[in-house]
Amino acid sequence: MIRKGMKLYSILFGVCPKCHQESMYQNKNPYVLSEVIKMKESCSHCQTKYQIEPSFFYGSMYVSYAVGIAFAVAAFIISYNILGSSLTVAFIAIVATLIGFMPIIMRLSRNIWINLFMSYDKELAKKSGVKSAKQ
Ligand SMILES: [Zn+2]
Repeated sequence: MIRKGMKLYSILFGVCPKCHQESMYQNKNPYVLSEVIKMKESCSHCQTKYQIEPSFFYGSMYVSYAVGIAFAVAAFIISYNILGSSLTVAFIAIVATLIGFMPIIMRLSRNIWINLFMSYDKELAKKSGVKSAKQ
């Protein structure tokens, strides 16, 4: 199962890549479109700065290309192979999926991107966990 301490946990839930204690995003809901990519500057638990360097997250665009293709392939397989729709409908399904999941794709790729550079830190999580329990 997916739990704290696994990279997948940070990627799927968009939490701090180092301590997995809180969301990196100002608004947890990716479908508040004005706040899709608004991130906190740093983690309030472990003080990790998310923006490692200026325009760090531009790199996530490469990842979003791969993530987008994964979603498109999934949409195609589901509509064409499983639901047995025509190629035209499958194509429409791909476009609709990419548009509909855009906020999720954007966040997933940012989460994957930052997790390429940072890893879960048990000690940091423990320390910050104590601190947050006191608050
Ligand atoms: Zn943190």
